[in-house]
Amino acid sequence: MSGAVDGPSGGGNPTSASVPASGVLSSSSSPRSLDHGTDDGLEAGRSPNPSTPTPSSGMSSRDSLLGSRRETVIESRNSFGNPHFQVDDLGIHLSSAAVNFLMGTVVTIGTVLFTLVVTLAVLLGKCQKPSLPASCASFSLNAEVNNLQGFPLSEKCVNFVARYVDSGQYHSDFAVAVEAARSYLNTIEPDQDGLDIVIFDIDETSLSNMQYYAAHNYGVGGWDEASWNTWVSSAKAPALIPMLSLFTDLKAQNWSVGFITGRPESQGQNTSQNLYNAGYTGWASLILRQSIEETWPAVQYKAKYRTMLENNGYRIRSSLGDQWSDLQGGNTGERTFKLPNPIYYIY
Ligand SMILES: [Mg+2]
Repeated sequence: MSGAVDGPSGGGNPTSASVPASGVLSSSSSPRSLDHGTDDGLEAGRSPNPSTPTPSSGMSSRDSLLGSRRETVIESRNSFGNPHFQVDDLGIHLSSAAVNFLMGTVVTIGTVLFTLVVTLAVLLGKCQKPSLPASCASFSLNAEVNNLQGFPLSEKCVNFVARYVDSGQYHSDFAVAVEAARSYLNTIEPDQDGLDIVIFDIDETSLSNMQYYAAHNYGVGGWDEASWNTWVSSAKAPALIPMLSLFTDLKAQNWSVGFITGRPESQGQNTSQNLYNAGYTGWASLILRQSIEETWPAVQYKAKYRTMLENNGYRIRSSLGDQWSDLQGGNTGERTFKLPNPIYYIY
């Protein structure tokens, strides 16, 4: 083999180059032999003493080849300066210390991620709204269907009411009730004499006082007459839009609409102004309690004035209100429509 190597190096004979070339290639044809076997053999064939003179030009050529192959081995064993990390033709080789380090890193990252996930879950759980007592929904339902003999809103149900109103459910329930009334009234052709009339309540029927109640704990803790009177005097209660829409449509269809409210006569001017501000115009009547009637049950008071309207020629075809006391006592029309009120009960 050495002769074959020496030939082309020393003589430069192109015809003999194929012999040494094939010899070198045969030993390097396997990457494995380059890495572990051939290299060792080549190292063994080197002179142990670098100072020992090269015996012949053949040896010089051999060293040249060895150098070339050694570079190849170095390139194949690139460790990038890290003794624990090597890359060769067979893949990546790690020392046990490196493997332990990587495993430790993976475990550490996993532990951190798990801790983050658990922490986020706990934080999200705290951000969720607390569940509300089921009894609040039950209480509200039974108040709406008039099973209760009063409607004192419990302190524990204040959040239930707030969520019912703020979530849009209250307005949805309200709108559906009004649409039911509209559907019924559309089946009736009002007479051209203008005496077919529908009776509207005002508070929580035509005007919304939710802004006031939300600012006063939805009435829990006692009725504050002074703050209520201030609110009424402001005449800022907005219209409940479905009712304003129904009012406008009924007027356009030659219906008459009359208001009967439990508000006292002393608030007549403010109430009239508030209705106007909210968009109601052209009502047929606005009836408020006289001072002598302020102690009357709402049913008695409202029934009295419905009877009076009918005695004056009006034909009451329907009544709408948020209290059962708006819809009982006679002369309410063929059908009545109860609107939702999650806050108070008036009998
Ligand atoms: Mg009312």
